[in-house]
Amino acid sequence: MASEANTTGTQCCIVGGGPAGMMLGYLLARAGVKTVVLEKHGDFLRDFRGDTVHPSTLRIMDELGLLDAFLERPHQKLRTLSAVFGAERVQLGDFGGLPARYAFIAMMPQWEFLDFLSGRARSLAAFTLRMQANVTGLIVGADGRVAGVRGSSPEGDFELRADCTIGCDGRHSTVRAAAGLAVEGLGAPIDVLWFRVGRDPAGQDSSLARVAPGHFVVTIDRGDYWQCAFVIPKGGAEALQGQDIAVFREQVVATAALLAPHIADVRSWDDVKLLTVAVDRLLQWSRPGLLCIGDAAHAMSPIGGVGINLAVQDAVAAANLLAEKLRAGTVTEADLDEVRKRRLWPTKATQAMQVTIQNNVLVPVMSADVGAELHVPLPMRVLTAVPVLQRLLARLLGMGVRPEHVRSPVA
Ligand SMILES: Cc1cc2nc3c(=O)[nH]c(=O)nc-3n(C[C@H](O)[C@H](O)[C@H](O)COP(=O)(O)OP(=O)(O)OC[C@H]3O[C@@H](n4cnc5c(N)ncnc54)[C@H](O)[C@@H]3O)c2cc1C
Repeated sequence: MASEANTTGTQCCIVGGGPAGMMLGYLLARAGVKTVVLEKHGDFLRDFRGDTVHPSTLRIMDELGLLDAFLERPHQKLRTLSAVFGAERVQLGDFGGLPARYAFIAMMPQWEFLDFLSGRARSLAAFTLRMQANVTGLIVGADGRVAGVRGSSPEGDFELRADCTIGCDGRHSTVRAAAGLAVEGLGAPIDVLWFRVGRDPAGQDSSLARVAPGHFVVTIDRGDYWQCAFVIPKGGAEALQGQDIAVFREQVVATAALLAPHIADVRSWDDVKLLTVAVDRLLQWSRPGLLCIGDAAHAMSPIGGVGINLAVQDAVAAANLLAEKLRAGTVTEADLDEVRKRRLWPTKATQAMQVTIQNNVLVPVMSADVGAELHVPLPMRVLTAVPVLQRLLARLLGMGVRPEHVRSPVA
């Protein structure tokens, strides 16, 4: 139980300082809503958050007047999308059809993205960020309305009362579980092993994915190293990790030969993190006093690298719909449900794309026998042959379905 001294109040409490929470915190504070973001970790320096800042997010940054400063942070610009499929290179996307200021994916470690946004947000009087604040439950009034959260921090247990609580705490959301919101699972047959391998800076092929029968390796160029994802069948980690690390290194190099010179960087299983993948969504995103957005409302798989951007779009939509009402203290449950109504269609469309790719590309590749011949799927052949389709796909992937514009006010 929190002492009285550890009980505070605010207009909006955001649980989770990921892309959704940090963008929403910034936008609400910018609109003059007293906002507290609670983040359970002590920093953003975790390695497995995803690295892609898509054109839709770059455009939001531009609308906020932040794009030039943002792009001063270390990043690589990915202007086309290609993969190596068996022995063939496939060309999948070309962002050249988008306005030049955001005609690329910025491959930026997510801690840079979050550090940048939180730095800007901290300069706003209405914004507070509390790190190492782990939310463990909800405060629920006698009328059933959520009235804030309780949690623990190095200073002790705390309670934060709020007119509105917004769960942005990701795919293992404590908030959505505590609120008893029902989840619909869409099935994710894969998990991911996440590791780094050194990269020689000059002239290396920067294809994003390397595919061989039985294996799929994602290689994200981070300048002096590759951030790699080795896709495995769901639940397959234990069997693999029971073997010598050399077996894993061989499997990786057999699919992605360009990693061979520095594969010894993966010294033991301690250098390899297991990331579990989920694709699901809530049936209801809100109840009185509470809303969930981002992965807390709809967990995304890594396919397409779109989850961060969808989370940011949710945050922009939520701020557009709620900022003025939050400031005036008049938000109703119907207002909160407007966010779900606005974002459900983009979410469904994006998750359908992820599930289609995972079932029609990933599963066949993963279940192919090592050494078997790998055929490039027909849609990939067509894309490779028709540049205009590459531009269309890049626009769809880069801007997403029904992209948002910033309409929330500046206080
Ligand atoms: C293996 C893998 C790779 C991925 N790669 C990409 C990619 O390259 N590009 C991409 O766009 N998407 C990627 N995704 C999807 C992407 O990670 C998510 O869709 C995106 O991070 C969602 O953002 P979010 O802000 O909703 O949640 P998160 O990014 O999960 O952020 C949630 C935040 O809440 C905090 N938190 C959690 N619980 C609590 C609590 N109880 N109290 C306080 N704080 C809490 C967490 O520490 C975290 O900071 C990947 C997903 C997986 C599984």
